[in-house]
Amino acid sequence: MINSKEDSNASVAESKVKKALLEPAAKEMCASYGIPVTKFKVVKTRAEALLAADELGFPVVLKIVSPDIIHKSDVGGVILNLKTSQEISDAYGDLLKRIKCRVPKATITGVLVEEMALSPAVEVIVGATKDRHFGPTIMFGLGGIFVEALKDVSFRIAPITEIDALDMIKEVKAYPLLKGYRNTPPSDINAIKDILMRVSKMVIENPEIKELDLNPILVYEKSAKVVDARIILE
Ligand code: ADP
Ligand code: MG
Repeated sequence: MINSKEDSNASVAESKVKKALLEPAAKEMCASYGIPVTKFKVVKTRAEALLAADELGFPVVLKIVSPDIIHKSDVGGVILNLKTSQEISDAYGDLLKRIKCRVPKATITGVLVEEMALSPAVEVIVGATKDRHFGPTIMFGLGGIFVEALKDVSFRIAPITEIDALDMIKEVKAYPLLKGYRNTPPSDINAIKDILMRVSKMVIENPEIKELDLNPILVYEKSAKVVDARIILE
């Protein structure tokens, strides 16, 4: 999560055993709380990747799964929009080659074959951190520059009510973009509210969650879907 307060206390963080749920396990946990996530399979060979794509349906996305790689796309670990078996086969080789070259020491757990979420969509982010004084805290913002450059985010202490969730969404400066802007249709605010409530329930019921990052969630006119997830346990 961005700018976690815990970051400033690195020595304390390091002295605790950190365990991360990478994208597949984090998405499974989200799905168990009814949070909509993209369909996926973790594979270990090119042949398995092709089979998985047949089962999921085209187009698909390939992503690296490694405990040593947190920001997958920074190292070329995400390849989007693969439309044919040939494209998947080529991308599978490319993906592993890139990782071997850019992060030679990374342990590779597998390759994620994932349903490609359609565009256009608005990207939003939901996060959670544990505040030393207030406990689990939920964060909301719009994807890309809004969170990273403009720090346009809202926070609430969990558990949150439906009203809190709606307020969090309306509070960010970028909210007009969710209401529909020029030719873009309005985004499904209720679907975002629902995800915020479910994340709140999840962090309250699982106090071992230290950090959670759903980044991004793609939001459509009548649905929303988490395309990347990461959870850090303490
Ligand atoms: P990173 O570890 O770099 O954050 P992500 O899984 O978030 O990797 O992928 C990077 C970007 O690729 C996302 O921000 C999103 O825009 C796009 N993306 C990732 N997965 C999907 C998907 N399944 N469908 C559509 N777009 C995706
Ligand atoms: Mg991401």
